[in-house]
Amino acid sequence: MRIREDGNRVIVAGGGVAGAASAIGFRRIGAEVTVYEAYEDPAGPVGSFVSLSANGLRGLDTLGCLDRVRDAGFALPLQRMWASNGRLLGEVARGRLSADPMYSITLWRGRLVEELRKEAVRLGARVVTGERLVDAERLEAGGVRAAFAGGRTDEADLLVGADGIRSATRRILDPGAAEPSYGGYYTVPGISAGGGADLAPGTFNLTFSRAGAFIAIPVPDGTVWWAAQVAAPDKPDAGIGLDALARLYRYEEQPSAVLREARELHRPTAHHLLEDVRVWQRAPMVLVGDAVHPVGAGQGASMAIEDPAVLAHAVMSAASLPEALETYERGRRGRTAKLMKMAGANRESKTAGPVARRVQNAVMPLVLRFLYERSTSWLYTHELEPLPRVSGRAG
Ligand SMILES: Cc1cc2nc3c(=O)[nH]c(=O)nc-3n(C[C@H](O)[C@H](O)[C@H](O)COP(=O)(O)OP(=O)(O)OC[C@H]3O[C@@H](n4cnc5c(N)ncnc54)[C@H](O)[C@@H]3O)c2cc1C
Repeated sequence: MRIREDGNRVIVAGGGVAGAASAIGFRRIGAEVTVYEAYEDPAGPVGSFVSLSANGLRGLDTLGCLDRVRDAGFALPLQRMWASNGRLLGEVARGRLSADPMYSITLWRGRLVEELRKEAVRLGARVVTGERLVDAERLEAGGVRAAFAGGRTDEADLLVGADGIRSATRRILDPGAAEPSYGGYYTVPGISAGGGADLAPGTFNLTFSRAGAFIAIPVPDGTVWWAAQVAAPDKPDAGIGLDALARLYRYEEQPSAVLREARELHRPTAHHLLEDVRVWQRAPMVLVGDAVHPVGAGQGASMAIEDPAVLAHAVMSAASLPEALETYERGRRGRTAKLMKMAGANRESKTAGPVARRVQNAVMPLVLRFLYERSTSWLYTHELEPLPRVSGRAG
């Protein structure tokens, strides 16, 4: 579909995972794309590692940049779940079905964003940093005018709101849209020297602890990346020190061993929840990624990659922009709503009290063994429509 004779112009608000992936998707269908990112720092404000599962990696393949991202991370074929007393509750294929050779990839979020932005620029997208979208209005002649905090304006045929969980685009589309609320736990990521805990190579280790949960990943360079997920009724006001973390996880052997070797501690990130977003799109504006479904459950980045692949295909194939945006919403609402439900169950397993924890420890080995693959195949084997391959700039 061409909105104008000379091609489509797209503004993307937000240059995170969803924004950079949107730029790639729209360049693949020949649109002229400008990304406006609020921060100067290419990594943005969230410093954690992320895992991409098989479905997210297939999304990258559809966008034509799977190898680039794979080279920036490392594969984790297996996931192990541990009880607080050190008992192994089960082992499953990480982020894929066990027969799928598409191994989950882990890398720093900033690195993922950097690689996606590089690919977008290689394909001819413009990325402008230090520009925060504050308003947008529909133009009578068609299209949209976007306004930025510093006074700059720009016009396009479509505005893609990839501006994260506190999306300004979501508020512009629906001034009554719900705001995010604190989800009951926060994450502190860090890096340790290896050797402290006995972690098998290629495994993602999740310990359900009295304080919440603890993730430990042995990295091929010999270090251990970890993330303490602390259940707490209130958000932390500031950082939390290593001593306080060590006290919280003192009952569990594996987290304690990893924390004893800690070399780096990153800023905590509070997990937020968002009610079902009523308005996903109204031409010429549409939401993607955390702006419309902060799914959690280790799938946020993967969904932020799937969305633009589906959106670009819908715009390419539909007869009009409203039809394209409706097709996109229809294709994504059900899948992300199902995932939000799954994320709710995951969250409860990390914030469970002692009684629920005992039940969980008894039931989980059976669930992992007999139900896990069947209950996750809809997620990991999702197919996306292909996009045209383009080799470089212009178009
Ligand atoms: C601690 C932690 C661990 C995680 N682990 C995983 C994991 O293992 N696997 C996984 O798949 N996901 C994980 N996630 C989630 C994942 O990081 C997000 O779901 C994903 O990054 C969403 O991408 P996004 O581009 O939609 O939003 P964001 O990453 O939030 O990007 C939004 C971008 O828009 C910019 N922006 C905001 N407002 C404006 C504006 N008004 N104008 C212009 N720019 C703006 C922001 O600066 C930012 O760069 C994790 C998240 C956290 C916090």
